[in-house]
Amino acid sequence: MLDILRSITQEVNAARDLEQALAIIVERVKSGLEVDVCSVYLVDHDSGELVLMASDGLLPESIGYVRLSFEEGLVGLVAQRAEPVNLGNAPDHPRYRYFSETGEEWYHAFLGVPIIHHRQVLGVLVLQQHAEHRYDEDLVTLLVTIAAQLAGAIAHAEASGGINGLNGDKRIERHPLTGKPGAPGVAIGRAVVIHVEADITAVPNRVIEDIAAEQARFLKAVAQVREQIRRMVDNISSSLSAADAALFDAYLLMLDSDSLISATLERIATGNWAPGALRDTLGEHIRVFNDMEDAYLRERADDLRDLGRRLLLQLQPKRQHSTGYPKSTILVGEEITASMLAEVPAKRLVGVVSVRGSSTSHTAILARALGLPAVLGVDELPITRIDGLELIADGYSGRVFINPPVGVKKEFRRLQREEQELTEDLQGLRDQDAITRDGVRISLLANTGLLSDIGPSLNSGAEGVGLYRTEFPFMMRDRFPGEEEQRQVYRQVLEAFAPNPVTMRTLDVGGDKALSYFPIEEDNPFLGWRGIRITLDHPEIFLVQIRAMLKANQGLNNLQLLLPMITTISEVDESLKLIRRAHQELLEEGLDISMPMIGAMVEVPSLIYQIEPLCKRVDFLSVGSNDLTQYLLAVDRNNSRVADLYDSLHPSVLRALQMVVQGAKAHRVPVSVCGEMAGDPAAALMLLALGVNSLSMSASSLLRIKWVLRSFSRRSAKTLLQQALEMDDPKAIRRMLGAALEKKGLGGLIRAGK
Ligand code: PEP
Ligand code: MG
Repeated sequence: MLDILRSITQEVNAARDLEQALAIIVERVKSGLEVDVCSVYLVDHDSGELVLMASDGLLPESIGYVRLSFEEGLVGLVAQRAEPVNLGNAPDHPRYRYFSETGEEWYHAFLGVPIIHHRQVLGVLVLQQHAEHRYDEDLVTLLVTIAAQLAGAIAHAEASGGINGLNGDKRIERHPLTGKPGAPGVAIGRAVVIHVEADITAVPNRVIEDIAAEQARFLKAVAQVREQIRRMVDNISSSLSAADAALFDAYLLMLDSDSLISATLERIATGNWAPGALRDTLGEHIRVFNDMEDAYLRERADDLRDLGRRLLLQLQPKRQHSTGYPKSTILVGEEITASMLAEVPAKRLVGVVSVRGSSTSHTAILARALGLPAVLGVDELPITRIDGLELIADGYSGRVFINPPVGVKKEFRRLQREEQELTEDLQGLRDQDAITRDGVRISLLANTGLLSDIGPSLNSGAEGVGLYRTEFPFMMRDRFPGEEEQRQVYRQVLEAFAPNPVTMRTLDVGGDKALSYFPIEEDNPFLGWRGIRITLDHPEIFLVQIRAMLKANQGLNNLQLLLPMITTISEVDESLKLIRRAHQELLEEGLDISMPMIGAMVEVPSLIYQIEPLCKRVDFLSVGSNDLTQYLLAVDRNNSRVADLYDSLHPSVLRALQMVVQGAKAHRVPVSVCGEMAGDPAAALMLLALGVNSLSMSASSLLRIKWVLRSFSRRSAKTLLQQALEMDDPKAIRRMLGAALEKKGLGGLIRAGK
């Protein structure tokens, strides 16, 4: 049974559109479970009705025609109750309704299970049998498992193909897709789909003009791969067994097979570019292999995938800098990395949309740093079909419009203008203090990591850098940067802000921040080898970085050091020992270098209960609210499925912060907050009330937060905090704070926000 399940899921995920996916489901389930009928009904989102979308067993003519509301029939009952209905003799049930079109009068046994995705009933999966009998418990649970596994794939296929695959494009035009707000702002532009190199399933369709040239390009790639494999076989033939050598022959046979080549050429002839045509041909072949009973033959599907990768590598055009990207590019991908962003000329890039990620993932942080509106975690994005289409990415509400109608576009243009005006109005605050109505001064600092952040940060009136994420310069290279290379980068940042302080965090990779040249494979990366855990295990990396920072600080003396992901006090002691050692070495080398202030990040909950020993060792604390929230609430900050649970205004996060600030105050150790919370107007009010000394955020948020702080008194913020701490629900807290901001005329800051 598990095998059936696995193979169905694989095939459905590889299906080209919804129609094909559903046909696979009903056929495989019917034959695998040996029933007379298997059907899928899906909810038509426009009419709210259930539509028979696929069936193996019912009359084919009824597909697409049988429709029923949630109040009608047994299928409606399953959807209404959102739980299985298992009947030995369906016609006896009061909700039974007979549809003559389906020819179902002969069926007695009925089992229907709901297909649910993100708490929403998408449809019903139904089994029927001539005989009168109740399906046993095992079969019911199996069908529930199949429905649960298929829900995601159906949701995805539905978004790509639309109901019945007939009016697909129109459907996605009318309904915006929802993801998570990644970075504020509205982007209007053209989608450029970027895929991880050689991932054939993520290749988009693209219309081509010159069919003959594209076919020739494909044939050339085939010849190149054939040559590559021949060379490979020549190189290693002496160490190959006859069986292994035969495997490569099979590769060459596949590559030469007429069906692979001519089918792809035919697809190109319909106007699709070679990678898109190849994706479909391979998908078809892989499904055939997957279907085979014989395990050996099934494995040949992997060979085909490998061939696909090789061909794709030959076919992938390198985008031409500046000319290959439209004027207003919205970068779209499964996942958008720092280097993908870096590839697009900054002037042409207006927004980011991705299938994975959420508001505190590092893609979001990068987008914010670059001032790019971003919508992440759009898990139903029809990625293969939107290259070149017009998009609106609403980074406030997390919505994406594909081919937006004129009226929608006009509305968003108006919002963009308002946004621009607000930004201009706020410029007046640039040189004003961040001081509350009752005279409390909060220091507002910038989060940076890219050299291109420096300008916007200085323009925003930041009083220094509260968090310089050193991993970004590491991510932009293809090897660890050396001491001198690092020193030069750090020097530029320190010089740009001197004499204001710059807090540089030691390397914090791991989790969702990967270095291509230092791969870390873990089942649970956020709980694994991250931040200080890595650098303490690799003192050679840590020492080089510290030496580079200390040297860069020579003569400027505005450097502060920050240690990420501290879990245990001994990690602070070990880090301090290494920092002192690096300092000592430099003194011995004859350099006149001072010891900077050293702080620890409070982002692992264990530290909330160890503030006292921590404060005895460091000069300041900086709360990483992104990770602190993730670990306190046990919610992966990148996982869009649980993003609704992630909220830094959760009363437990507020209480944790209260303990940290009170503990640190007792030792006269200043506390800063450098997570995304600091740039959130509602949360900033809570941080003001808690007595945080400074807030560090992306430059784009800084003047807004200054406006908030200048509009309130600390006393009134404390009253709001008191109210918040009496509430249980983060959403209610957010509403309450939203209303308070609105009352002060700051509603524009939170428009459609969280
Ligand atoms: C945090 O965790 O809040 C933080 C500032 O660090 P990062 O987002 O880089 O993990
Ligand atoms: Mg962190």
